[in-house]
Amino acid sequence: MTTHRILILGAGYAGMAAAIQLAARRREGVEVTVVNARERFTERLRLPMTATGQQLADLRIPDLLDGTGARFVPGWVTAVDLGASTVRIDDERVLPYDTLVYALGGVADTTVPGAADHAHTLDSAEDAELLAGRLTRLGGGTVVVAGTGPTGIEAAAEIAEQHPELDVVLLGRGEPGAAMNRKAKAYLDAALHRLGVEVRSGTEVVKVLPDAVELAGGGTVPADVVLWAAGTRAAPLAAAAGLTVDDRGRIVTDAALRSVSHPDVYAVGDAAAIGQRYGVLHGTCQSGMPTGVHAALSILRALDGKEPKPFRFGYYHTPVSLGRHDAVVQFTHPDDSPRRIHLTGRFAVRYKETVTASPWPTYGRMKKMPASGAFWPRGGRFTRGAR
Ligand SMILES: Cc1cc2nc3c(=O)[nH]c(=O)nc-3n(C[C@H](O)[C@H](O)[C@H](O)COP(=O)(O)OP(=O)(O)OC[C@H]3O[C@@H](n4cnc5c(N)ncnc54)[C@H](O)[C@@H]3O)c2cc1C
Repeated sequence: MTTHRILILGAGYAGMAAAIQLAARRREGVEVTVVNARERFTERLRLPMTATGQQLADLRIPDLLDGTGARFVPGWVTAVDLGASTVRIDDERVLPYDTLVYALGGVADTTVPGAADHAHTLDSAEDAELLAGRLTRLGGGTVVVAGTGPTGIEAAAEIAEQHPELDVVLLGRGEPGAAMNRKAKAYLDAALHRLGVEVRSGTEVVKVLPDAVELAGGGTVPADVVLWAAGTRAAPLAAAAGLTVDDRGRIVTDAALRSVSHPDVYAVGDAAAIGQRYGVLHGTCQSGMPTGVHAALSILRALDGKEPKPFRFGYYHTPVSLGRHDAVVQFTHPDDSPRRIHLTGRFAVRYKETVTASPWPTYGRMKKMPASGAFWPRGGRFTRGAR
């Protein structure tokens, strides 16, 4: 009997979900290998905490995979050879596969001149630690957070709360919380004001300098530190391999989450451009974990000679932390548009913490009962029918 080798690249929220599902539903003749940059699981949702020097739990990927038969390989993926069906790790080792699960996540889109050279990002725990060191050493001055989406808001709030000696400027094209209902947005605005965050929306950074950011239409904002949180894209690896990608470098998938150009490659999480009837999914943990589970189930169905089912997902919330003592949770329709209901204050803090802490225990539960991971909102009429 020949062995079918499934190689999972990236053990973040989506890759871990795929790995645990495949490992827990152990099959004779199927070998599962997981590659990740480091042994420690990166809680990306908590990176603003890491960036402000707060300690996180030490979650180890090999501990979770222990007893499942899945093999863990620490290392940096440097290339994928689709013709040879191999992956290069750290430019030295080569791993073969029969089915590849691509789950390497996304990175900040630092294509604006100077951003890659002078701005910090929250792409990895190491990046967040670097920023933490920088902020601690500053002792005073201005931090500009570029990007008014949830990542920018959470980071600005966390920095303002943990470093009251620093001036924090949050700037970007849109208003923070623009996608929230009126009351939730008003709460968010008031919380940022209370934390002393200066919000400058309707501005676009066109260049990052060593000590300032340059704005469209002229003018600069002095900055001792710049954090870049203005949009994400996938690393160039997928495009370089020859996979069909969208304009943000994400692998374009079919309904079963297979690459449209290379069906032996499944793409999940932030690295994938996954269409639903209402549009292409934007990177979240809430959608990323289901994509990992669905890809695992699709692979197993394909191995059984069955047709994989289409992936369906509907959003249900946007939880945004505002430091450690405040938060706002906007509940959403499946297409991510805001509902009338939202949570604020300590209820929102508790909700956000429950959500943020849930992935690791969820993986633990899936390891014992894989079927427990197969429940998520399918989006009802928002996702039914043609994509
Ligand atoms: C500050 C912040 C707050 C967020 N808050 C929320 C929230 O409240 N709710 C929500 O749903 N989403 C939230 N998100 C989005 C969420 O974190 C992402 O959508 C999610 O992490 C995507 O999961 P993923 O598995 O695709 O990628 P990731 O979680 O980023 O995992 C990718 C993995 O691949 C590894 N990797 C990358 N490149 C390589 C390589 N070349 N070689 C080896 N390993 C590699 C990384 O180390 C990582 O372990 C937030 C994001 C940020 C930055």
